[in-house]
Formats: sequence, C-alpha cells, structure tokens
Amino acid sequence: MNLDLTGKRALVTGASSGLGLHFAGVLAAAGADVTLAARRLEKVEAAASRLPGATAAALDVTDADSIAALFDGARFDVVINNAGIALDGKALETSTEAFQTVIDTNLTGVFSVARAAAQGMQDRGGSIVNIASILGLRVAGNVAAYAASKAGVLQLTKALALEWARHGIRVNALCPGYVETPINADFFATDAGTAIIKRIPQRRLGRLTDLEGPLLLLASDASAYVTGAVMAVDGGHLVSSL
Ligand code: NAD
Repeated sequence: MNLDLTGKRALVTGASSGLGLHFAGVLAAAGADVTLAARRLEKVEAAASRLPGATAAALDVTDADSIAALFDGARFDVVINNAGIALDGKALETSTEAFQTVIDTNLTGVFSVARAAAQGMQDRGGSIVNIASILGLRVAGNVAAYAASKAGVLQLTKALALEWARHGIRVNALCPGYVETPINADFFATDAGTAIIKRIPQRRLGRLTDLEGPLLLLASDASAYVTGAVMAVDGGHLVSSL
C-alpha cells in the first residue's frame, strides 16, 4: 500500500481554516508539496510558512479569473476541493440569491476547480477529492441549499470519474459527518447539540484526525483502483436507526 505523496504537487482549496487547513498539514506530512489556496492570501501565507514545501495562493472558487490565474502554468497531482460555505435557515425564508451563493461556491466552484485541474492532469493522471457532507446523502431541517449543493457534488463526482478515468484521473468524494471545530464547539455543548450527538451510533462527534486516513487513502496511489466512490466518515450517523 502506498500512502506516500513524496514528489506530488497538491492543492487544497479553502485552506485558511478548519478542515482545509488540517488537510494541508496531512498532505505535507505525507511528503506532498502543498499549495494552500483561499480568498484571504495573508491567512494561507501564514499557514504555508509553517509547513515544509508549502506555498500559498489567492483563490476565489466562484471567480473564473481567479481560478485561471491559479492554474496558469501550474499542474497538480492531487486536488482537494474543500472550499465551502454553510447556510442555515428555513427554506421559506431563504432568498434565491442566498441559495444561489451556496450553489455557486459548493457545487459550481467544485466543478470549475476540478475542470481546471483535470486539464493539467490529462497526460499523467491525478486524484481529485471532493469534500461533500453526509447532508449530500440525507437531509436535516434548515439546510436545504447546503444539502442540495452537497448532493450535487456527489453526482458530479461520479460523472467526472466516469469521463476522466480514461485519462488516469480519479475523482472521489469524502462525506464528513459532524466534525468538532472551534466554530461549532459551543453549539454542541447545548441541549440541541447533545441531542444530535446521541443520534450518532458512535456517540461522539468526528475529530479532524478521523478524516486523515480516508483523505490520504483517496489522495494517494493506495486507492489506485478507486474512482467515483463516496466515502462517509461519520461514526455511523448515516446508518442511524429510523
Ligand atoms: P470553514 O469555514 O472553516 O472552511 C471553509 C473554507 O472555505 C475557508 O477557508 C473559507 O475561506 C473557504 N471558502 C469559502 N468560500 C470560498 C470561495 N468562494 N473561494 C475560496 N475559498 C472559499 O469550514 P469547514 O468546516 O472547515 O468546511 C470545509 C469543508 O468541509 C466545506 O466544504 C464543508 O461543507 C465541509 N464539511 C464540513 C463539516 C464540518 O463538520 N465542519 C462536515 C461536513 C462537511
């Protein structure tokens, strides 16, 4: 099994915080030369300065010019499509503009970055990992736009895997469950948060470290025969009892 990424160039979108920042460190520790990309250049520059072989780049996944500038002359072997936004709110109170913003970032952004990446991977292959969510497979209240965008990412993952297998490009999706980060720690300490944790068969939230093995597996040649796959990392949340 080969989880080593030495000599591989990797891109992580939305690498200024949360999962993306963590993923960049995991890929760098596996030997990859990582480009951390996000809208706030100063944040990814600071993060990149702490990782061996890492560089930073400005990227807005909703902006075609920004994507073109990043990929101008640059080729990546591994691309982690992680940038995303959440939108909480009742569907009846969600404007079309707000809905569209979520789709633009979470779904169209993934497509645009994947297409740009695949153009540079066509002659020697590569691995694209799209970060979706368990909300792409099941629903909860007040997340219609987010759930729809992530469901779209899963079907997009399969469609691109089919089209690009002939180029040696693998496209897979990770579906994290609820992962504890500083941003949501307060919520999960409330009664509503505790009630959610009780519905997870493993009775705990995910940790950033829980995502490391699945990410490395899909990014590396250890999963050379895996494409179009959707992998949940959720402590069994998707198979919770009805
Ligand atoms: P986060 O807000 O900490 O990170 C999101 C990142 O995406 C940030 O760096 C942000 O700047 C960036 N981003 C947003 N819009 C962008 C744009 N237009 N262009 C470039 N970058 C942009 O959130 P997170 O929890 O780390 O989420 C990362 C990914 O994981 C998202 O796709 C999210 O949907 C997914 N996810 C998170 C969880 C969780 O529990 N945290 C669970 C399932 C899926």
